[in-house]
Amino acid sequence: MDYQELIEEVYQEVQEENLRGKVANYIPELATVDPHQFGIALVDLKGNVYGVGDYQNPFSIQSISKVHTLTMVFPKFDTQLWSRVNVEPSGNPFNSIAQLEYEKGIPRNPFINAGALVITDALCSKFEKPVSQISDFINELAGENCVEINQAVMKSEKNHAARNTALAYFLKSYKNFDNSIDEVLDVYFSHCAIAMNCVDLAKSFSFLANDGYSIFANKEILTESHARRVNAIMLTCGFYDEAGEFAYRVGLPGKSGVGGGVAAVMPHKFSIAVWSPELNEKGNSVKAIRALELLTNKLSFSLF
Ligand code: GLN
Repeated sequence: MDYQELIEEVYQEVQEENLRGKVANYIPELATVDPHQFGIALVDLKGNVYGVGDYQNPFSIQSISKVHTLTMVFPKFDTQLWSRVNVEPSGNPFNSIAQLEYEKGIPRNPFINAGALVITDALCSKFEKPVSQISDFINELAGENCVEINQAVMKSEKNHAARNTALAYFLKSYKNFDNSIDEVLDVYFSHCAIAMNCVDLAKSFSFLANDGYSIFANKEILTESHARRVNAIMLTCGFYDEAGEFAYRVGLPGKSGVGGGVAAVMPHKFSIAVWSPELNEKGNSVKAIRALELLTNKLSFSLF
């Protein structure tokens, strides 16, 4: 399979479809990005990199960073983590608070905001300098110093933080929050504000296509058993209330962010990052999802 030819074909076809969406603006700084950008990078398990379009432009990875923070925290707590957060799809928007009351302060999964805040809280309990340790960890996964925290995006989200602050207080009222709310929110906004390009993002997901072993860090990041679990959570919860549709149309474990990025893995073959800022009403990139759908259609295989 010629991956370069494949992603170029996908890129061309998506561009011809002229799909439109809306750039996220509830974090005002995200709305300043050029909406027409579109890039794809695919990284195979030999370390070969294939790219097309704006694949070298850094963008705000937002919720994709929730996979990195979960990966840092999971080995520290193992299955005990699941007493604080469930692994069920929510069927609700990423920032929903509704289910948190019915579920007595236990978020449905680690990728909706409520669950990711619990993960960041757990991370703050185990890592002394959480923000720099998250950056170091992702740099290690990508095999180079590629992580930048976009301070303008970080501050912009901090200044429009009513919903996430409410979620954190709600979690605290159920005693599912150990550290200072302000401290954890700062760490959460900082990891969401990480900017990377498609190549480095795909590299940072490579270990999830490779049973937990990163060829860029040259070491095991997660055990094979933990890596399978993270992939299962991505497949069932990675796209919020569009997770079922992503599994149906694309059929790969993946994670989206409101910056317009999607990272996904084809186990034992490759990892891929696609980015285009215009989002559908569920907060997922219109072009990135379409590109991945065309990609698995053309390959004639997916996880299934
Ligand atoms: N930082 C964003 C938020 O908390 C992340 C959301 C996302 O990418 N889906 O709202």
